[in-house]
Amino acid sequence: MDPFDGSTPSDTLKRVATLLGCSPTSAGVAAYLDKHDKLSHLREQFLVPKISDLPPSDLSLVDGEQECIYLVGNSLGLQPKMARKYLEEELEKWAKTGVHGHTEGSRPWAWAENNIEELMANVVGAKPEEVALMNGLTVNLHLLMLSFYRPTAARHKILLESKAFPSDHYAVESQIRLRGFDPEKSMLLLQPRLGEETLRTADILRVIEQEGDSIAMVMLSGVQYYTGQLFDMAAITEAGQRKGCCVGFDCAHAAGNAELKLHEWGVDFACWCSYKYLNSGAGGLAGAFIHEKHKDTIKPALLGWWGHDLKTRFKMNNVLELQPGVSGFRLSNQPILLVCPLQASLEVFNQTSMQALRRKSLLLTGYLEYLSRHYFSEDPAQPDKPYVRIITPSDPQQRGCQLSLCFSIHIKKVFQELEKRGVACDMREPSVLRIAPVPLYNSFNDVHRFIQTLRTALTASIISKNGIY
Ligand SMILES: *Cc1c(COP(=O)(O)O)cnc(C)c1O
Repeated sequence: MDPFDGSTPSDTLKRVATLLGCSPTSAGVAAYLDKHDKLSHLREQFLVPKISDLPPSDLSLVDGEQECIYLVGNSLGLQPKMARKYLEEELEKWAKTGVHGHTEGSRPWAWAENNIEELMANVVGAKPEEVALMNGLTVNLHLLMLSFYRPTAARHKILLESKAFPSDHYAVESQIRLRGFDPEKSMLLLQPRLGEETLRTADILRVIEQEGDSIAMVMLSGVQYYTGQLFDMAAITEAGQRKGCCVGFDCAHAAGNAELKLHEWGVDFACWCSYKYLNSGAGGLAGAFIHEKHKDTIKPALLGWWGHDLKTRFKMNNVLELQPGVSGFRLSNQPILLVCPLQASLEVFNQTSMQALRRKSLLLTGYLEYLSRHYFSEDPAQPDKPYVRIITPSDPQQRGCQLSLCFSIHIKKVFQELEKRGVACDMREPSVLRIAPVPLYNSFNDVHRFIQTLRTALTASIISKNGIY
């Protein structure tokens, strides 16, 4: 049987358990799924830290020689093994040939990023000419908004989430001020319904329908960093554009996580960072997308020599031959040392497809959800099970790989107990853990070990000693 055949995760787990004659929660099920996972070999292309190398590990509690339980690829992806080799090649080239490196070797620095744009475009569902690799995420968001946000007295609002990532919130706020408008009046914040954590698609579409005439730009995330909610980008794009708004997405948590079709959906612009699911290392080279329909009409507000056509760029005659579309938005020559690790990671992505990764992801995250619901309860009145509520939507179409687990207790102590035992994950105080089983390198065994370790950590934390979960 193929456990990745698209049945619901709980059906798959029960079938495997029956086959093996064990419980769906037993470690044997995880081992079986890993054995039948056609993408499991991709993990070998990454460096998974050993528990003993992680600073908070307590080696009296756990075997330090084991690989850590790394579930924080939503914050910083693991290092692709080839990153070091590529970096060494460029350092060597620099050492031996100096300035000649600009035009020589397999990765000439003067156009090194151009060689990996197609690999990047494949991951976000774009054409290579629609993608530029440059700067950092927030910088790109600003550059794109400078061109796409054209407020008028009647149409000046930007629609975003009430709890957008702080950098996006500040970027939007400052763009509104830059145009002489008042963020109090021009930032339209989408709030979940009272008592709910995530936004309903119907509510988003209704706000666009009702307020669209005053909205200049819809700028949401693709996947919400805190709740893990995957927005219906196709429907939001369609609704926004129908009302005459331009529609952009910050895909920081979506790129390399969800299956994106930026071109097909007709998204006006998008940007993303590359150090989360795209594994390029902290502060890595970010991405920008402008749909080809805008290639001759949307111009960069700020110019630099890297926006000039490569063929004549180095004639230096100060007569700008602007590249069409997003390529014209480049400002500076590219940091080759950031191109190397991104290339290493994108090559791994291109050994498979986002479609195949997503298939695995649905089962992997479904497995995490299944185990969490088995051992923990969303009912605070359940005396024998710790309280854990999953705030990420339970509909797989409305989430990527991350689940955000909300506890009834302050989470810090539990988090520390997890860290002592070799778990790397993300804590959002006061009570949320964000857990991201990444299909590129995480295994079913990782998820199984995590849940077992979480049970131990909950018991070990003082709270359980007092008998309160
Ligand atoms: C990670 C993240 C950022 C970080 O911005 P940088 O410019 O890369 O520092 C911004 N926005 C969102 C939505 C993010 O998830």
